[in-house]
Amino acid sequence: MAGAAYGAALPAGHTTKKMISSRSALEERIHLTADEAKWFDSPSSLPLLISDHLADLMQDEEDDPIRRQFVPQCMECDIDDSLDPLAEVDHSVTGRLIHRYGHRAALLTTDRCFSYCRHCFRRRFTGTDTGPIGDEEIDRAAEYLAGHREIYELLLTGGDLFTLSNAKLDRLFSTLRSCREDLVIRLCTRAVASCPSRFDDELMEIIARHDHGGPFLLLTQFNHPRELTDESIRAVGRFLALGIPAFNQSVLLRGVNDDADILEDLCVRLLYSRIKPYYLFQCDLVGGTAHLRVPVARGLEIEQELRRRLSGLAMPQYTIDLPEGGGKVILTKDHLVGEEDGYYVFSTLDGGKRRYPKV
Ligand code: SF4
Repeated sequence: MAGAAYGAALPAGHTTKKMISSRSALEERIHLTADEAKWFDSPSSLPLLISDHLADLMQDEEDDPIRRQFVPQCMECDIDDSLDPLAEVDHSVTGRLIHRYGHRAALLTTDRCFSYCRHCFRRRFTGTDTGPIGDEEIDRAAEYLAGHREIYELLLTGGDLFTLSNAKLDRLFSTLRSCREDLVIRLCTRAVASCPSRFDDELMEIIARHDHGGPFLLLTQFNHPRELTDESIRAVGRFLALGIPAFNQSVLLRGVNDDADILEDLCVRLLYSRIKPYYLFQCDLVGGTAHLRVPVARGLEIEQELRRRLSGLAMPQYTIDLPEGGGKVILTKDHLVGEEDGYYVFSTLDGGKRRYPKV
């Protein structure tokens, strides 16, 4: 399997024999269903790779939320939608820098991750063996950013940024800070959930050294409360201790978290862990993920229920990134339902009506 090569390329100390990248390794942990076994007959382009940490969390049950997210099924090979629904290729300004919105850009630092999520929206790139970003490409991206002062936020993404070696991260941060000290830098990573041991003293020292000028922000992806382990919470805590705030972006996934009880539990636990629930994304229309998508109508029902149960701080924004590069829009039931006698009329969450003066 291709995944074995990826494991071998991860930073030293973060690969072990327990990492799952082959059918035999997977079958040592779980009994494959027919759909899972069939994936191996003609695998999709996204490799199988499950970190030690997640493999230890995964249970041998068909509806296990970790298994649903990381064990491939044959339905992935039904490529009925685009592999680039967000039209990122059209907005690439250097090989790996995407400038789709005026004030922010995203840099694809590597195609590698500690584990490959089966709902990955960047399948056109993730796990394609393109490898870590080269120094020349870092310099080209820096040059573009230096010439485009309207960009004030840069997303460091991939793949997973923290699969880069410490030396490469140091080089990347140094170059970015030298060209644009003022940039707000989003560190987008699932590694706090999939490989929390990555965030050791040496790595945190590098992050602390470059946390000046525009702030670093940590963007995590926890989709189910079971992923919020003590180790993961400690890893996020290391960023918080440096004064780097944390925001979580979940993806709404069929059979994983399409349930108000599960998401309520997740969001409250995130808040207690000092991680702001930021987005709940509708799954992108990316080919090979249809079996994991939740209908928007069901998503709206869940959103309404969460709004009833959660405080404003615990509530994520249910959001869709529209196909063909249409951008992000928030999905919610519109509560402004009319106007009468100089008042706006609003519907309440429990179906009532309230008026609020127009001036
Ligand atoms: S961590 Fe992100 S980039 Fe990597 S497979 Fe998961 S969703 Fe895709």
